Amino acid sequence: MRVRFWGTRGSIATPGPGTNHFGGNTSCVELTTANGDLLILDCGTGAHPLAAELMAQGEKAINANILIGHTHWDHIQGFPFFSPAFVKGNSAAIYGPEGSHGSLHHVLAGQMEFTYFPIELNQLPAAITYHDLTEGIHTIGGVRVATQFLNHPAMTLGYRVEVDGVAVVYLVDHEPFSDELWRAGAEPGRIESILHEGDRRHAKFMTGADLVIHDAQYTPEEYVSKKTWGHSTYEYVVQIAAAAGVRQVALTHHDPGHDDHFVADIERKARILALQCGTGLDVFCAYEGCELVLEPLSTLKPFITAHPFHSPVAQRRFHILVVDDQPDTLALIVRALEEEPYTVSKAASGPEALRMIGERMPDLVVLDYKMAGMDGLAVMRTLRAKPETQPLPVLMLTAMTDEPSTRAAFEAGVTDYVTKPFSIPQLTARVRACLARSEFR
Ligand SMILES: [Zn+2]
Ligand SMILES: [Zn+2]
Repeated sequence: MRVRFWGTRGSIATPGPGTNHFGGNTSCVELTTANGDLLILDCGTGAHPLAAELMAQGEKAINANILIGHTHWDHIQGFPFFSPAFVKGNSAAIYGPEGSHGSLHHVLAGQMEFTYFPIELNQLPAAITYHDLTEGIHTIGGVRVATQFLNHPAMTLGYRVEVDGVAVVYLVDHEPFSDELWRAGAEPGRIESILHEGDRRHAKFMTGADLVIHDAQYTPEEYVSKKTWGHSTYEYVVQIAAAAGVRQVALTHHDPGHDDHFVADIERKARILALQCGTGLDVFCAYEGCELVLEPLSTLKPFITAHPFHSPVAQRRFHILVVDDQPDTLALIVRALEEEPYTVSKAASGPEALRMIGERMPDLVVLDYKMAGMDGLAVMRTLRAKPETQPLPVLMLTAMTDEPSTRAAFEAGVTDYVTKPFSIPQLTARVRACLARSEFR
């Protein structure tokens, strides 16, 4: 498989002399298989030079599979300039996560409304199809593609592309689930030692990959003030990729405020850390024009998931119970979830929550940790002890960011663990991921 980077910048295109080497165009990566299948990962402004290159290749019809991780601007802004879509006889199959705010077609049409762009989406002459995806295993072109939700303040999918005996995993944009990566007392550097279930799932998704392309927008120092913005540091990426036995990592989604010297310094530090991990992981910062030809090194182990086919969430109406003894927090969460197509009820204490669950089973519980009287852990233990509530998904929402509390919550059986401060888009994305995964009822 051939991999080529056309856009490596995050947030906003950043042209100029300071970004000449690593590049100023936003997210776009081209994959070409031995069979000639064309997969395009994200459609930031890098899609414009990619389109020019495809058009220059000749008269053959262009059949593009465009895999969009999420629909923030820096991942879709190049699409209106993707010139093959303006030619009859070409085709584009566009894939993206089903979101809570309209279909993929609706969102892409939005940025091409008359106010913003002279040609509307429906006027494009190429044959364009739209595919809203959830987590699972898909066939795109002739290629096996696994998808898994990332941690970002929008519904965001990571893609694992397995073809020609190699696996390329695209994880942009994503933020660590937990401040602490490792469980205290466990041997660091192993997937089983990862503290948060979300980070562990993330590591498993990239296991044994030949190439992982990962968001690493911030330095560890910058990240402290940019939590909940949905981006990673090289420290997190290198450690988790080493634990997952990844061969090579391309750090990408470079911050618009980082010039070439700064990104080169990140690359140097990431390489030192990778050496310390001692797994032979090769790491570099992706740059525009970078081309890799991946050859199989060992037998590819396909990614297996317990739930290869998830039903779409969009058509279902879910009931969520929010439990918190702080009236302000309770009101804030309820208001945020009521903006989505959910039925929301609320309880101000553990015993009240258990009574309400007994009367009417919700699809998901959002549960506070520290409550007067019966706390969240005690509620969890009660729920997990009864067969009828044993599989009920529970998202714990808490100010307790420390390792012992996180570990205790997962040991008590929480489905997900979200820490304060949190942003509303981040919470709604995590709620939606829990619901998409739930096979409950
Ligand atoms: Zn982005
Ligand atoms: Zn984003």
